[in-house]
Amino acid sequence: MNSIIKAACATCRRELDVEGDPLSSDCGGDCWGCVGETEASLGYGPSIEKCNAEIDAGYRSGSKFKLKKDVDNGQE
Ligand SMILES: [Zn+2]
Repeated sequence: MNSIIKAACATCRRELDVEGDPLSSDCGGDCWGCVGETEASLGYGPSIEKCNAEIDAGYRSGSKFKLKKDVDNGQE
């Protein structure tokens, strides 16, 4: 057997580490497309900024994430 089985995202089954597709980066078994969206949804600033940049660049679909600056106070 000499077939190369490419890794796929455990969440959306996207092929991982595809050249030219920044959302396919391997984030421990899931693609950055899924991981970034999850983190951004949870309000993680750096991921929100990166996801929004990818939306601007046309890699990611959907609406932009909003930074939840108001939520920062009083929460871990
Ligand atoms: Zn995925």
